[in-house]
Amino acid sequence: MALKVFNTLTRKIEKFVPLKGKKVKMFVCGPTIYDYSHVGHAKTYVQFDIIAKYLRYKGFDVFYLQNITDIDDKIIKRANENNETSKKLAARFEEEYYEDMKSLGVDSIDKYARATDYIPQIIKQIKTLLEKGYAYETKDGVYFEIDKFSEYGKLSHQPLDQIQAGARVTINEEKKNPADFSLWKKQKPGEPFWDSPWGKGRPGWHIEDTAITETEFGPNYDLHGGGIDLIFPHHESEIAQMEAISGNKPFVKYWLHTAFLNIRKEKMAKSLGNFLTIRDMLSKWDKKTFRFFFASTHYRTAIDFSDENIEQAKKGLDRINEFIRKVLVANGKDNKKVKELIEKTKETFEKHMDNDFEMPQAVAAIYDFIRDVNKLEIGKKDGEKIIKFMRELDVVLGFMTFEEEIPDEILALAEQRVQARNEKDWVKSDKLRAKIKEKGFYVDDTTDGFIVKKL
Ligand SMILES: [Zn+2]
Repeated sequence: MALKVFNTLTRKIEKFVPLKGKKVKMFVCGPTIYDYSHVGHAKTYVQFDIIAKYLRYKGFDVFYLQNITDIDDKIIKRANENNETSKKLAARFEEEYYEDMKSLGVDSIDKYARATDYIPQIIKQIKTLLEKGYAYETKDGVYFEIDKFSEYGKLSHQPLDQIQAGARVTINEEKKNPADFSLWKKQKPGEPFWDSPWGKGRPGWHIEDTAITETEFGPNYDLHGGGIDLIFPHHESEIAQMEAISGNKPFVKYWLHTAFLNIRKEKMAKSLGNFLTIRDMLSKWDKKTFRFFFASTHYRTAIDFSDENIEQAKKGLDRINEFIRKVLVANGKDNKKVKELIEKTKETFEKHMDNDFEMPQAVAAIYDFIRDVNKLEIGKKDGEKIIKFMRELDVVLGFMTFEEEIPDEILALAEQRVQARNEKDWVKSDKLRAKIKEKGFYVDDTTDGFIVKKL
């Protein structure tokens, strides 16, 4: 079946047809690295991770690019508070961000692009916009003149006069329209800077992304994603910049946006005291529980984060993992109905994922499968088929557990045993093996090191 997606630009469910064959150039707005990432980021990035992995599952050749905003007002402010350079602060939180993504199993991204590595390309884009008459210089920077781009507002579906009325009153009298947005910010004392034709300064936020994507993908590409809060002005402005520069429309064919994450039905905000980082949540809950939690809600539906809801998700995931454990040791009579059930479930899973990534319905298909298999007597071969199938689905979903977790204590003993063997202390090595066995585990040596299994 053909994949369909909801496109924010057209507000329609559309058939997903990449610009060039099976190749998909996909870009999702990355973080501004001035602090630890929060659970809202976790939702967005886990859901896009599942989307990218499903596109690959469908046979698309996806190149997934994400930007890293490593220069910005918030970074400068925080660095000043900490008495360190913006560069140092950003480098630290960039590493923390990768660590968080690793913890969440978000590993579908092919390339991370740091904004400050694209300053020449950013300057080139701004120069083009000035030359083409879409931008103007003031005392404090360079601005994009939205009145010159008649389609400004087409992504957020609001008329220009409404945007103008909604724009914050600006103290900058040189701005032609209060909603004109910044392309280049001239340096204020003490701020980090790069040289440019407009003097020392740094890029605006929106131009980072178009400079990065034009460099990596060219002027047009297939899929742009991000949180729903980025539609305006961020993504709207990206469209204005890139379509003004290249004249090729549409800049991006499909725009996908993930809905908000609320905390106990309230918006998450530092001022409300309900701000939760990914680290906070991983200290309390297993990472796979989160992937399951985020996969249990449609990406365009707001999710309510609370201990009760995570507890609920944990119970749901436990049922899947219990099933896997049971199937792994199945030794009854093989049943030809299993093959049928696998085929039916695969079809249902794909039908829902093909319909704008209906993850909750796709997960529900797995529960139906579990219920149906549980009614049957199954054999070892059936078990193997089921595990193979579940693993295929989990390449996309990433929340199932197929191997017994080996406790750290056992791993430590196994490592001591390797040490003893290296020292040719066979008595000690045998004693350690016996001790590991006593605790219910089996250890053996392979050419790649040791393996430990539950007995
Ligand atoms: Zn962005």
